[in-house]
Amino acid sequence: MSETSPKLRAVLEGIPTYKPGKPAAAGGPVAYKLSSNENPYPPLPGVLEDVIAAAGNFNRYPDMACTGLMNELANRFGVPVSHIATGTGSVGVAQSLLQATSGPGDEVIYAWRSFEAYPIITRISGATAVEVPLTDGDVHDLDAMAAAITERTRLIFVCNPNNPTGTAVRRAELERFLDRVPSDVLVVLDEAYREFVRDEDVPDGIELYRDRPNVAVLRTFSKAYGLAGLRVGFAVAHEPVAAALRKTAVPFGVSQLAQDAAVASLRAEDELLGRVGSLVCERKRVYEALVEQGWNVPDTQANFVWMRLGERTADFAAACEKAGVVVRPFAGEGLRVTIGEDEANDIFLHTAEAFFKEL
Ligand code: PMP
Repeated sequence: MSETSPKLRAVLEGIPTYKPGKPAAAGGPVAYKLSSNENPYPPLPGVLEDVIAAAGNFNRYPDMACTGLMNELANRFGVPVSHIATGTGSVGVAQSLLQATSGPGDEVIYAWRSFEAYPIITRISGATAVEVPLTDGDVHDLDAMAAAITERTRLIFVCNPNNPTGTAVRRAELERFLDRVPSDVLVVLDEAYREFVRDEDVPDGIELYRDRPNVAVLRTFSKAYGLAGLRVGFAVAHEPVAAALRKTAVPFGVSQLAQDAAVASLRAEDELLGRVGSLVCERKRVYEALVEQGWNVPDTQANFVWMRLGERTADFAAACEKAGVVVRPFAGEGLRVTIGEDEANDIFLHTAEAFFKEL
């Protein structure tokens, strides 16, 4: 047997593997998972029934064109079917966007800190990542991002609201930014948490994309619609971009279970968005309680809260875990906690209160 291993692309060296949120440990006292921005509600019975029905045919490939889902999405958002592309979660669509636009020698701009998959999928594409620090208030610095554009820029991610800070950019500043971006550079508005936005000044990307051929909007069924485990997301973009996405997507990347669940979820949207409303109320409760306790937390428009803890991050994450809630620490920087079940939020708030008193 030969001693040499197959040659792998040099660019992979040093790229970390995507790190998922820590699961809640089995067998602990109580264990609530607040580490992945998931929806704490169980599947709706009607959606589950459709998934079970689809499971009876899993010896067959799914509908590769996602016809039913594409039609449903087109109706829901008032866009042509040809402007939609589905994928294996919105992260799958994001990866296709990079494959469609960027390679070695190209540059991809995004804010940092932001969604952890951006640096990974950018560097896998071979393109150079250009990271623009968030402002002191943990918001996208759109002026600095515009200033970072060069003739090599191919794609810019704007995560709105931003993961992990929950902060959002407002309409006027986003429109001013879009007006500054050259028309041959694709701007991806990642709106994974759009349904949780309550600030009316935060624009809906699907309105912004309509007269901007260089804007693509990313949405997911993983968060508000509670289908994280089924892996389905989509982009809305003008036809050349959407067509390129369909070309670069992994064939059959969205299972029939996922397609049918997504269609059933859109049809049960009133109920699902009612649940989102309850989570938004809980978000307000958690945010206000943290402020009352003395924490300096940025305004959040998503289903999570960001706490900048610096060197105390790991200690606080450990205290949370000991109390029964698993959160998401970013070593040396801060901690993101998902809004979960009311009792999980209570445990978190008690832990935060005790920890603050010791600071
Ligand atoms: N975008 C953002 C900003 C996210 O936080 C996430 C999930 N953490 C995704 C995209 C990907 O979600 P999914 O692949 O489940 O659709």
